[in-house]
Amino acid sequence: MSELKNELSERLGCSIDQASDSQIYRALLQITQEEAAKHVLPDTGRKLYYVSAEFLIGKLLGNNLINLGMYREVKELLAENGKSLAKIEELEMEPSLGNGGLGRLAACFLDSIATLGLNGDGVGLNYHFGLFHQDLKGHIQNVSPDRWITDESWEVDRKKGYDIQMAGRTYHSHLYDIYVTGYEGRTNRLHLFDLDTVDDSIVQNGIDFDKTAIDKNLTLFLYPDDSDDAGRKLRIYQEYFLSANAAHLIIDEAKEKGVRLDQLDKYAVAQINDTHPTMLIPELIRQLTLEGLSFDAAVNVVSGICAYTNHTILAEALEKWPLAYLKEIVPQLVPIIEILDDRARRKTDDLSTAIIDSGDTVHMAHIDLHYGFSVNGVARIHTQILEETELANFYRLYPDKFNNKTNGITFRRWLMECNPRLSALLDEKVGTAWHKDAQELEKLLAFADDSDVLDRLLAIKAKNKKELAAIIREKEGVQLQTDGIFDIQVKRLHEYKRQQMNALYIIHKYLEIKAGRKPVRPLNFIFGAKAAPAYIIAQDIIHLLLLLQTIINSDPDVNPYMRLVFVTNYNVTYAEKLIPAGEVSEQISLASKEASGTSNMKFMANGAITLGTNDGANVEIRQLVGDDNLYSFGIDADTVIAHYRNADYRARDYYEKDPVIREAVDFITGPKTMAIGDPVRLNRLKDDMINKDWFMALIDLKDYIRVKDQCFADYENRTAWAKKMLVNTARSGAFSSDRTIRQYNEEIWKLG
Ligand SMILES: *Cc1c(COP(=O)(O)O)cnc(C)c1O
Repeated sequence: MSELKNELSERLGCSIDQASDSQIYRALLQITQEEAAKHVLPDTGRKLYYVSAEFLIGKLLGNNLINLGMYREVKELLAENGKSLAKIEELEMEPSLGNGGLGRLAACFLDSIATLGLNGDGVGLNYHFGLFHQDLKGHIQNVSPDRWITDESWEVDRKKGYDIQMAGRTYHSHLYDIYVTGYEGRTNRLHLFDLDTVDDSIVQNGIDFDKTAIDKNLTLFLYPDDSDDAGRKLRIYQEYFLSANAAHLIIDEAKEKGVRLDQLDKYAVAQINDTHPTMLIPELIRQLTLEGLSFDAAVNVVSGICAYTNHTILAEALEKWPLAYLKEIVPQLVPIIEILDDRARRKTDDLSTAIIDSGDTVHMAHIDLHYGFSVNGVARIHTQILEETELANFYRLYPDKFNNKTNGITFRRWLMECNPRLSALLDEKVGTAWHKDAQELEKLLAFADDSDVLDRLLAIKAKNKKELAAIIREKEGVQLQTDGIFDIQVKRLHEYKRQQMNALYIIHKYLEIKAGRKPVRPLNFIFGAKAAPAYIIAQDIIHLLLLLQTIINSDPDVNPYMRLVFVTNYNVTYAEKLIPAGEVSEQISLASKEASGTSNMKFMANGAITLGTNDGANVEIRQLVGDDNLYSFGIDADTVIAHYRNADYRARDYYEKDPVIREAVDFITGPKTMAIGDPVRLNRLKDDMINKDWFMALIDLKDYIRVKDQCFADYENRTAWAKKMLVNTARSGAFSSDRTIRQYNEEIWKLG
C-alpha cells in the first residue's frame, strides 16, 4: 500500500487528498502504462495480427487496473484519501472506435489474447472521431462528433510510419500504440495508424465534412456515411490505408526477426475481421513480390497467412466495389486482383464465385474465400447457414476451410469490472478461478437450492437496478420504478434486430392498460441504440420509441404500471451500467439474421433471462440453460429462409386479419403520436410495416406477446426466477472470449 501511495504522491507533487481528480487520473494513467510496459514480451515464434476496421475498446483505466492486479489497492488508497476511483474513471473519454458487436468483439479478443499469453497485436485506424455522439432532443436522433483523443489518452507515439500510395499520391502514415493488458497476463499492443495532415476543423454542422479531401479526412471518422459515391470512395481509401499499413508492419516485424519472407507464413498469421481489411491479401502479395518473391511464391505464402471471419449474412454488408473505383484509388492492386480472379475462375465453372463479376464489380469476400486458408462464422447456426445457404458454392469448393468460432466476451470487463457485487458473491461461493477460467462458474449450480444464495442474487440485482435508475434519472430525466421489471434492449438500431417489434409489444401493453387490464408489477422498458445517419427507417423507429416514451411516462393512467426510457448515446460505458441491472434480455432478431450477438452473453453472465428467437448464439444459450431458464419464441431460421426464397411473406395479411396486430400498428399514426410527432416519419414507418416489413416483425408479434407475457408472469415466483438467474450465470462460462480465443489458436492460428 505505502509503495503505491508514495509513487502516486510523488507524481502528483502533493498529497493525494490535495490533488484534483484530473491530476490523479493523469498520474494513474502514467503508473498503469509503466506497469503495462513491464509485461511486454519479446516477439518470438509465430505472431497473430488481428486486423480490423473497428476496435470498440471502451474506457481503459479500470480495465487495466483490474488486469494488472492493482484495482483494489488503488480504490482503497483513494477512498482513504476521500477520493472516488469511480469518479476519476468518469473523466476518461471513451474511445468509441467501433459501431457495435463486431468492434466490441475485437476488443474482447485483444483482452483474451493477452490474458492467454499469446503473441498477438491488433491493427486498426486511429479515427479522430469515433462513432458519433447522439442526443435525442425533439424526439429524434441528433448527431455530433465524438472527440476522444486528448493529452490524457492512452496512445503512445511510435514515431514511425510508412509511405502509402493512393490515387497517385503518397501519404505517410503515423503509428500510435495502445497497450493491451492481459489479466495476470502479458501486454500486447493495439496499433492504430493515422495521417498527420488530417484536419479536425473541416467538420461542420453535425458530422458533415468534405469527403473528397483525403489528406484532411482519411482517419477523421470511423467509417463514414457510405450513402453516396464520395463516402464509398473514402471507405476504400480507409480500407487500403489499413491494409497497406498492416502489410508493411507484418513484413517489417518479420525482417526484424530475421525471417525469410518465403517462409513468412510460419511467423505471421492475420485474422481478417470481416471484409474491411480484405485488401491485405493482394497488398501483401504486391509487397512480397517487391521484396523479391515470385508471384506464385507470394500467393502461396499469403494464402498461408490470411484467415477470414464472416460476421453477417445481410447482403448489404458483403462489400462490393466497382472495379473503376479500385482503378482510381489503388491501381497498383488491380492487376493482382485480376490475376487472382483469373486463377479462381480456373478452379470452377461456377461463375457465382468469381472475384470480378460480369458487371465489373469486385466482391471482396470472394478474395478472402479463395485466398484465405480459413473462413469462420461466429455462432453455430450462423456457420451452418454460411455452409448450407449463403456461401454454399464456396463450401463445395473448400469444405475444409470452413469452421465455427462462437463469439465470446471478456468476463473481466463484463462481470468483474461492471458488476462488483455479483463478482464478490461469486468469489465467495466458487472461488476466484473463474476470473481466468469462466467454466468454473458452473460450480454455482451447487447452490441452486440454497435460499441464502438465491436471496442474495435478488438483492444484488435490486441494488444494481437502483444504481441504474439513479443514473437514468440524472442523465435522461426519467424515473424508473425499481420495484418493477427491467426489460432491456440495447444494441445498434436495425430493422433485423426488431426494436420495432418491441415497440409494438409496448403499444399493445399500453392499450391493455388503458382498457383496464393492468400488469401485476410495473414494467420498465429500456432501450439504447444508435442508428446510421443515412438509415431512414431506423431513424423513424427511434422517433416512434421517443414518442412512446413521452406518451407513456406522462399518462397518469399508465405510468404507475409502465415506464419507457430510450437512453442517450448508448456506448460501452453505458452498457457497463445497463447490463448488471438487466432482468429480461431482449434478443429478438429475425431468425437467421443475427450472426451471433454478444450482448445476449453479457446479460446472461449478469443473471438476466433471455427472451429470444432461435438465432445466433441464443441457440447455444438455450441449449446450455434449457427451456426452463430462457424464453424462446418465433419462427425458425429455415422457415425464414424459405419465406425469402418463395417471396411469399405478406405483412398486410397479418395486419388485416389480426385485430391485436392492427390496433398496435394503427397506433403509430394515431392521434396521440401524430399530436407530438412527425407525420412524415410516422406514416412512412407504418407504411413500411404493412407493405414491406422485410424482417417479418408481424409474423412473430403474436408469439412474442404470448411468451413475453408468460415471462413477466413467471417473474412473480421470485425464488424460481432467482434460480433461473443462477443457472444463467453458472452456464455463461461457455461464452468467455478466452474459450473463443483458445479455439482460434488451436484450430487456426497455431501460435507457438
Ligand atoms: C456488446 C455491445 C454491442 C453488441 O450488442 P449486440 O446486442 O450483440 O448487437 C454493441 N454495442 C456495445 C456498446 C456493446 O457493448
